Amino acid sequence: MSWQATVLTIFPEMFPGPLGLSLAGKALREGLWRLETVDIRDFARDKHRSVDDAPFGGGPGMVMRPDVVDAAITGAGGCGPLVYLSPRGRLLDQKRVRALAAGPGVRLVCGRFEGLDERLLEARQVEEVSLGDFVLSGGEPAAIALLDACVRMLPGVVGAASSLEEESFERGLLEYPHYTRPQEWQGRTVPEVLLSGHHERIRAWRLARAEETTRERRPDLWDRYVAARPGRTGTPATGASGEEK
Ligand code: SAH
Repeated sequence: MSWQATVLTIFPEMFPGPLGLSLAGKALREGLWRLETVDIRDFARDKHRSVDDAPFGGGPGMVMRPDVVDAAITGAGGCGPLVYLSPRGRLLDQKRVRALAAGPGVRLVCGRFEGLDERLLEARQVEEVSLGDFVLSGGEPAAIALLDACVRMLPGVVGAASSLEEESFERGLLEYPHYTRPQEWQGRTVPEVLLSGHHERIRAWRLARAEETTRERRPDLWDRYVAARPGRTGTPATGASGEEK
């Protein structure tokens, strides 16, 4: 059974979109995952096919009706956790992505307007997931991003599984910087150690750079990394000096 993505949206024509190209698209054609879109409007109750209504309590914008979205969820079928893409959700991270990819699939609800009626989220015990602290005009771009992240974790999608292990977040660190040809470009050279062929020194240099970058850019990740690391010092393991924490 291949991994099953079910997307509930009022814009099914946005799918597969970018997911039909490159790695995800090839995997889709090869049947490594399946994508079903469900048009929430098909479950509307009136002849105008309306899915939204004015908010109780007043205010701007419209709210997606719980009865219509609920009927769409029932009609959609699919498998795996029911996820609502929402700026009020828990921030998506690689750990959650990996867990979703390891399961049977995911059912995604894309909001539009001001979002979904709260009672639907309670009644269906929906998991709310956010892409970041910014507001999109709809859940579809977030759904595409989440599915892209999950699909590349499925067995057989990314050629070398080892390229996944090295990546940002996999060890609680941002990744080290990359260099390729030309060896000199606009007067800039490649770090000498990468040309040395000395695998142990290269590994140590990359770890030091990953630690340095994480400490500078993401104090939140760095604190967690330090707490989880044997030795528990606030300085990078190799090379680069840092303040004690
Ligand atoms: N009124 C809402 C924003 C609604 S944006 C608020 O202030 O919280 C419309 C839809 O876009 C949402 O229902 C959600 O599905 C999607 N969306 C917007 N920002 C998002 C984000 N950061 N992550 C995931 N989905 C998002």
